[in-house]
Amino acid sequence: MSERYDHFIGGRYAAPVGDEYFESTNPATLEILYTAARGTSADIDAAVAAADRAFHDPRWRDLSPTRRGHLLRRLGDLVGQHAEELARLESEDNGKLLREMRGQLISLPEYLYYYAGLADKVQGSQVPTNSVQMLNYTQREALGVVGAITPWNSPLTLTTSKLAPALAAGNTLVIKPSEYTSRTVLRLAELAVEAGFPDGVINVVTGYGAEAGAPLVDHPGIAKISFTGSTATGSRIAASAAARFIGCTLELGGKSPNIVFGDANIPNAAMGVVAGIFAAAGQTCIAGSRVFAHRSIYDELLERVADRARSIVIGDPLLDETELGPLAFAAQRDKVGSYVELGVSEGATVLTGGKRPDVDLPGYFYAPTVLTGVDNTMRVTREEIFGPVAAIMPFDTEEEVLKLANDTDYGLAAGVWTQNLARAHRMSRQLEAGTIWVNTYRAMSPMSPRQGFKSSGVGIEHGLESMHEYTRLKSIWINTDEDPVADPFVMRG
Ligand code: NAD
Repeated sequence: MSERYDHFIGGRYAAPVGDEYFESTNPATLEILYTAARGTSADIDAAVAAADRAFHDPRWRDLSPTRRGHLLRRLGDLVGQHAEELARLESEDNGKLLREMRGQLISLPEYLYYYAGLADKVQGSQVPTNSVQMLNYTQREALGVVGAITPWNSPLTLTTSKLAPALAAGNTLVIKPSEYTSRTVLRLAELAVEAGFPDGVINVVTGYGAEAGAPLVDHPGIAKISFTGSTATGSRIAASAAARFIGCTLELGGKSPNIVFGDANIPNAAMGVVAGIFAAAGQTCIAGSRVFAHRSIYDELLERVADRARSIVIGDPLLDETELGPLAFAAQRDKVGSYVELGVSEGATVLTGGKRPDVDLPGYFYAPTVLTGVDNTMRVTREEIFGPVAAIMPFDTEEEVLKLANDTDYGLAAGVWTQNLARAHRMSRQLEAGTIWVNTYRAMSPMSPRQGFKSSGVGIEHGLESMHEYTRLKSIWINTDEDPVADPFVMRG
């Protein structure tokens, strides 16, 4: 009998109103890991009510900002103490390498510590105006109940990226994790109570997007939506938020270019290309899925990338020697497979991969794949595949590659490999993406703000800027003049 998880509402586990549960499967072994509550609008109502009560409760509302920071710091400590447990739970849930998850869990407390330090720095400013007798100042206020909706590829990190700044600024939360990875976010909510967060400050409703996510987005008690997921869902959420004039932060999909110039250090660039597209089996929003290689080094880069792709050790994500685990669920594996078939039907050549690898486990494995014979107009180079599929294309000039790199609906990230400093700056300035990496790929920090351009998102995550996304700015005018207030209808000469 597998474990059963309820929602986490008002500081404790709560059975779903509809009394229904759904199964969550290990994508490597296909065993059923647990069942989780199948949330509906009734559960969302209960969670929003609990979060709203907590927002107005003096135990949270009047808690000093420094103490809010203490709670976040304590949560960071607890996450660190439970790192191995959380890493394993998440690895079993979505097939990510345990090794990679251990790495993520080392940096996760840093997200909480960073925003713990910012909690008592949510400040406004005094504004000079042209009226000397007027004192004008601004203050930043918490918004209220924030709805956070997250995907399955890095549930803990992506949830913490929302939770930490939202709590630092004094909000409360209702979180709807992906239906593929419910467990670790529930565990995070439990740890938050252990850290001392008052009941109802963090609530989790599990379930499907249409049944639990949509009612959260549309709930009148929500002051803001913070979403990470696909561009299609993000667009629906933006429309709903716009209709009610509430803010939304959207971190969406990508089709990032990774550009290797002829003057680059080619072994380093090849590793950067491999890391960009094959790490986490390509299931990252920032995947460098469009690789542009200068024609002078195209063959060498291709050979290096393909060689490493062929030697990647695929298998059980819990083992230390494994370098690539399964895709997270069957539909994701099928999607990746059908994109590769589509690419071939459009004229692409599969240099390596393009099939299920030889693995002793029944899960959703897909071999690291390199496509050649592609150009920037094909669907495999325009649409997000979200799997280990690199499309490698040659280019001749900087001007040409800049145009190709920017010729995409997305604008999440871009990589540039060059030893020419001036070119590095030129490219960084002109690439239309929220994050640019030069001679590196996938670098990330809670301190560094990131934003998706174009269809990759709205708003900012990480950094001081992200905390401001969870506040509203109030402008306050104080008349310091003792003179009588002038009659507005008496014109002064
Ligand atoms: P998804 O949009 O299908 O689902 C994301 C979340 O939204 C899930 O919790 C899901 O249940 C919920 N959801 C689905 N439909 C909904 C609806 N109508 N209303 C409200 N909620 C709904 O995305 P996914 O497949 O889980 O995640 C993969 C996507 O996430 C990729 O496109 C990837 O690029 C993107 N992503 C972006 C970032 C980033 O920071 N930009 C990070 C990771 C993943």
